[in-house]
Amino acid sequence: MRKPMIAGNWKMHKTLTEARTLVAGVLDKLDESAEVDVLICPPVQLLFPMAKSIANSKIMLGAQNVHEEASGAYTGEVSVAMLKDTGCSHILVGHSERRHVFGESGDRLAKKVRAVVQGGLIAIYCIGETLEDREAGRTTVVIDQQIDEVLASDVSAEHLIIAYEPVWAIGTGKTASPEQAQDVHAHIRTRLGSVYDEATAQKLRILYGGSVKPGNAASLLTQVDIDGALVGGACLVAEDFTAIISAVLAAA
Ligand code: PEP
Repeated sequence: MRKPMIAGNWKMHKTLTEARTLVAGVLDKLDESAEVDVLICPPVQLLFPMAKSIANSKIMLGAQNVHEEASGAYTGEVSVAMLKDTGCSHILVGHSERRHVFGESGDRLAKKVRAVVQGGLIAIYCIGETLEDREAGRTTVVIDQQIDEVLASDVSAEHLIIAYEPVWAIGTGKTASPEQAQDVHAHIRTRLGSVYDEATAQKLRILYGGSVKPGNAASLLTQVDIDGALVGGACLVAEDFTAIISAVLAAA
Protein backbone atom coordinates (compact mmCIF):
# COMPACT_ATOMS: atom_id res chain seq x y z
CA MET A 1 0.00 0.00 0.00
CA ARG A 2 2.81 2.46 0.85
CA LYS A 3 5.33 2.73 -1.96
CA PRO A 4 8.82 2.43 -0.51
CA MET A 5 11.35 5.22 -0.87
CA ILE A 6 15.12 5.16 -0.70
CA ALA A 7 16.53 8.65 -0.25
CA GLY A 8 20.19 9.60 -0.25
CA ASN A 9 21.40 12.56 1.80
CA TRP A 10 24.75 13.52 0.33
CA LYS A 11 25.38 16.12 3.06
CA MET A 12 28.45 18.30 2.23
CA HIS A 13 30.04 15.78 -0.12
CA LYS A 14 30.91 15.63 -3.83
CA THR A 15 32.28 18.05 -6.36
CA LEU A 16 30.61 18.25 -9.75
CA THR A 17 32.87 15.64 -11.34
CA GLU A 18 32.46 13.26 -8.40
CA ALA A 19 28.70 13.77 -8.42
CA ARG A 20 28.42 12.96 -12.12
CA THR A 21 30.38 9.75 -11.59
CA LEU A 22 28.18 8.75 -8.65
CA VAL A 23 24.91 9.37 -10.47
CA ALA A 24 26.13 7.58 -13.59
CA GLY A 25 26.98 4.57 -11.39
CA VAL A 26 23.53 4.58 -9.78
CA LEU A 27 21.74 4.95 -13.13
CA ASP A 28 23.77 2.10 -14.54
CA LYS A 29 22.40 -0.33 -11.94
CA LEU A 30 18.92 1.07 -11.40
CA ASP A 31 15.83 -0.84 -12.53
CA GLU A 32 13.64 1.94 -13.92
CA SER A 33 10.49 -0.14 -13.62
CA ALA A 34 10.98 -1.06 -9.95
CA GLU A 35 8.20 -0.13 -7.52
CA VAL A 36 10.34 2.16 -5.38
CA ASP A 37 10.82 5.91 -5.23
CA VAL A 38 14.46 6.95 -5.41
CA LEU A 39 15.57 10.38 -4.25
CA ILE A 40 18.95 12.07 -4.11
CA CYS A 41 19.61 15.16 -1.99
CA PRO A 42 22.88 16.67 -3.18
CA PRO A 43 24.35 19.88 -1.80
CA VAL A 44 22.78 23.00 -3.24
CA GLN A 45 25.43 23.85 -5.86
CA LEU A 46 24.82 20.48 -7.51
CA LEU A 47 21.05 20.71 -7.83
CA PHE A 48 20.92 22.16 -11.35
CA PRO A 49 23.56 19.85 -12.85
CA MET A 50 22.17 16.81 -11.08
CA ALA A 51 18.67 17.63 -12.37
CA LYS A 52 20.21 17.32 -15.84
CA SER A 53 22.03 14.08 -14.98
CA ILE A 54 18.86 12.38 -13.74
CA ALA A 55 16.53 13.73 -16.44
CA ASN A 56 14.47 10.92 -18.02
CA SER A 57 15.21 8.59 -15.12
CA LYS A 58 13.09 7.66 -12.11
CA ILE A 59 15.47 9.41 -9.70
CA MET A 60 13.95 12.46 -8.03
CA LEU A 61 15.79 15.48 -6.70
CA GLY A 62 15.67 16.80 -3.15
CA ALA A 63 17.33 19.54 -1.13
CA GLN A 64 18.87 19.17 2.32
CA ASN A 65 17.55 22.40 3.83
CA VAL A 66 15.54 25.52 3.03
CA HIS A 67 14.77 28.93 4.50
CA GLU A 68 11.22 29.46 5.72
CA GLU A 69 10.78 32.91 4.14
CA ALA A 70 9.95 33.41 0.48
CA SER A 71 12.70 36.02 -0.08
CA GLY A 72 14.64 38.69 1.76
CA ALA A 73 17.95 39.66 3.32
CA TYR A 74 19.03 36.17 4.38
CA THR A 75 22.60 35.81 3.17
CA GLY A 76 23.51 32.28 2.21
CA GLU A 77 19.98 30.91 2.29
CA VAL A 78 17.62 29.59 -0.40
CA SER A 79 13.83 29.61 -0.58
CA VAL A 80 11.34 26.93 -1.55
CA ALA A 81 10.64 28.64 -4.90
CA MET A 82 14.38 28.72 -5.68
CA LEU A 83 14.70 25.02 -4.95
CA LYS A 84 11.62 24.32 -7.03
CA ASP A 85 13.35 26.12 -9.92
CA THR A 86 16.20 23.63 -9.77
CA GLY A 87 13.80 20.71 -10.16
CA CYS A 88 13.53 19.67 -6.51
CA SER A 89 10.39 17.81 -5.50
CA HIS A 90 11.38 17.08 -1.89
CA ILE A 91 13.15 18.96 0.89
CA LEU A 92 14.61 17.55 4.11
CA VAL A 93 13.50 19.50 7.16
CA GLY A 94 14.87 19.08 10.66
CA HIS A 95 17.73 16.71 9.91
CA SER A 96 19.52 16.07 13.20
CA GLU A 97 22.54 18.04 11.99
CA ARG A 98 20.28 21.03 11.38
CA ARG A 99 18.80 20.62 14.86
CA HIS A 100 21.96 19.87 16.80
CA VAL A 101 24.78 21.55 14.85
CA PHE A 102 22.85 24.58 13.57
CA GLY A 103 20.44 24.88 16.49
CA GLU A 104 17.17 24.83 14.54
CA SER A 105 14.22 24.90 16.92
CA GLY A 106 10.82 23.27 16.69
CA ASP A 107 9.27 26.71 15.98
CA ARG A 108 11.57 27.26 13.05
CA LEU A 109 11.01 23.74 11.70
CA ALA A 110 7.25 24.24 11.91
CA LYS A 111 7.64 27.28 9.64
CA LYS A 112 9.93 25.42 7.26
CA VAL A 113 7.57 22.46 6.91
CA ARG A 114 4.70 24.83 6.14
CA ALA A 115 6.78 26.78 3.61
CA VAL A 116 7.66 23.55 1.80
CA VAL A 117 4.12 22.20 1.79
CA GLN A 118 2.53 25.51 0.81
CA GLY A 119 5.10 25.74 -1.99
CA GLY A 120 3.77 22.45 -3.34
CA LEU A 121 6.84 20.34 -2.53
CA ILE A 122 7.15 17.36 -0.21
CA ALA A 123 8.71 17.86 3.21
CA ILE A 124 10.69 14.95 4.62
CA TYR A 125 10.45 15.82 8.29
CA CYS A 126 13.25 14.20 10.31
CA ILE A 127 12.81 13.27 13.95
CA GLY A 128 14.81 11.23 16.40
CA GLU A 129 16.15 10.99 19.92
CA THR A 130 19.70 11.43 21.19
CA LEU A 131 21.53 8.65 23.03
CA GLU A 132 20.96 10.54 26.27
CA ASP A 133 17.21 10.62 25.60
CA ARG A 134 17.14 6.91 24.80
CA GLU A 135 19.15 5.93 27.87
CA ALA A 136 16.88 8.04 30.05
CA GLY A 137 13.81 6.25 28.62
CA ARG A 138 12.61 9.43 26.93
CA THR A 139 12.54 8.23 23.30
CA THR A 140 8.79 8.42 22.80
CA VAL A 141 8.47 11.66 24.79
CA VAL A 142 11.00 13.33 22.48
CA ILE A 143 9.40 11.87 19.35
CA ASP A 144 5.94 13.05 20.43
CA GLN A 145 7.27 16.53 21.13
CA GLN A 146 9.00 16.72 17.73
CA ILE A 147 5.76 15.65 16.04
CA ASP A 148 3.45 17.88 18.06
CA GLU A 149 5.50 21.06 17.79
CA VAL A 150 5.66 20.88 13.99
CA LEU A 151 2.77 18.87 12.59
CA ALA A 152 -0.92 19.69 12.67
CA SER A 153 -3.88 19.20 10.38
CA ASP A 154 -2.99 22.33 8.35
CA VAL A 155 0.13 20.49 7.06
CA SER A 156 -1.15 18.44 4.12
CA ALA A 157 -0.28 14.80 4.76
CA GLU A 158 -0.01 14.32 1.00
CA HIS A 159 3.03 16.57 1.06
CA LEU A 160 4.68 14.89 4.01
CA ILE A 161 7.08 12.03 4.65
CA ILE A 162 8.55 11.29 8.07
CA ALA A 163 12.12 10.10 8.59
CA TYR A 164 12.90 8.51 11.94
CA GLU A 165 16.61 8.92 12.53
CA PRO A 166 17.90 8.15 16.01
CA VAL A 167 20.70 10.69 16.46
CA TRP A 168 22.96 8.07 18.04
CA ALA A 169 22.78 5.99 14.85
CA ILE A 170 23.58 8.72 12.32
CA GLY A 171 27.07 8.41 10.87
CA THR A 172 28.20 6.32 13.83
CA GLY A 173 28.00 2.83 12.34
CA LYS A 174 25.53 1.94 15.16
CA THR A 175 22.12 1.00 13.81
CA ALA A 176 18.91 0.57 15.72
CA SER A 177 17.99 -3.10 15.74
CA PRO A 178 15.04 -3.91 13.46
CA GLU A 179 12.88 -4.37 16.59
CA GLN A 180 13.97 -1.04 18.13
CA ALA A 181 13.28 0.77 14.85
CA GLN A 182 9.92 -0.97 14.31
CA ASP A 183 8.78 -0.08 17.85
CA VAL A 184 9.45 3.60 17.30
CA HIS A 185 7.95 3.59 13.79
CA ALA A 186 4.77 2.00 15.14
CA HIS A 187 4.65 4.64 17.87
CA ILE A 188 5.14 7.42 15.29
CA ARG A 189 2.31 6.04 13.17
CA THR A 190 -0.02 6.00 16.17
CA ARG A 191 0.93 9.57 17.01
CA LEU A 192 0.35 10.65 13.41
CA GLY A 193 -3.09 9.09 13.76
CA SER A 194 -3.86 11.58 16.50
CA VAL A 195 -2.54 14.53 14.48
CA TYR A 196 -4.47 13.44 11.36
CA ASP A 197 -6.60 10.29 11.55
CA GLU A 198 -5.94 6.57 11.46
CA ALA A 199 -6.48 6.19 7.69
CA THR A 200 -4.12 9.08 6.92
CA ALA A 201 -1.49 7.72 9.29
CA GLN A 202 -1.65 4.36 7.48
CA LYS A 203 -0.87 6.12 4.20
CA LEU A 204 2.04 8.21 5.48
CA ARG A 205 5.50 6.92 4.70
CA ILE A 206 7.96 6.66 7.57
CA LEU A 207 11.59 6.16 6.51
CA TYR A 208 14.31 4.87 8.80
CA GLY A 209 17.74 6.51 8.84
CA GLY A 210 20.90 5.81 10.79
CA SER A 211 23.85 3.87 9.36
CA VAL A 212 21.72 1.94 6.86
CA LYS A 213 24.13 -0.18 4.78
CA PRO A 214 23.71 -2.99 2.23
CA GLY A 215 24.34 -5.52 5.02
CA ASN A 216 21.60 -4.35 7.41
CA ALA A 217 19.06 -2.87 4.97
CA ALA A 218 16.97 -6.00 4.43
CA SER A 219 16.37 -6.69 8.13
CA LEU A 220 15.26 -3.09 8.73
CA LEU A 221 13.22 -2.69 5.58
CA THR A 222 11.14 -5.82 6.17
CA GLN A 223 9.60 -4.29 9.31
CA VAL A 224 5.93 -3.49 8.76
CA ASP A 225 6.09 0.19 9.62
CA ILE A 226 9.41 0.93 7.89
CA ASP A 227 8.65 2.28 4.44
CA GLY A 228 12.14 2.92 3.17
CA ALA A 229 15.37 4.54 4.22
CA LEU A 230 17.11 7.88 4.44
CA VAL A 231 20.72 6.98 3.76
CA GLY A 232 23.78 9.10 4.50
CA GLY A 233 27.24 7.53 4.13
CA ALA A 234 26.17 4.57 2.00
CA CYS A 235 24.52 6.77 -0.64
CA LEU A 236 27.91 8.17 -1.61
CA VAL A 237 28.92 4.86 -3.18
CA ALA A 238 26.83 3.82 -6.19
CA GLU A 239 27.02 0.07 -5.48
CA ASP A 240 25.96 0.54 -1.86
CA PHE A 241 23.06 2.85 -2.68
CA THR A 242 21.74 0.53 -5.38
CA ALA A 243 22.18 -2.49 -3.11
CA ILE A 244 19.94 -0.76 -0.52
CA ILE A 245 17.37 -0.09 -3.26
CA SER A 246 17.47 -3.78 -4.18
CA ALA A 247 17.02 -4.70 -0.50
CA VAL A 248 13.82 -2.68 -0.20
CA LEU A 249 12.47 -4.33 -3.31
CA ALA A 250 13.29 -7.78 -1.98
CA ALA A 251 11.53 -6.87 1.27
CA ALA A 252 8.34 -5.70 -0.46
C1 PEP B 1 21.64 10.81 7.49
O1 PEP B 1 22.48 11.67 7.33
O2 PEP B 1 20.46 11.11 7.37
C2 PEP B 1 22.08 9.46 7.81
C3 PEP B 1 21.17 8.58 8.14
O3 PEP B 1 23.42 9.21 7.75
P1 PEP B 1 24.13 7.75 7.88
O4 PEP B 1 23.40 6.82 6.96
O5 PEP B 1 25.54 7.99 7.44
O6 PEP B 1 24.02 7.35 9.30
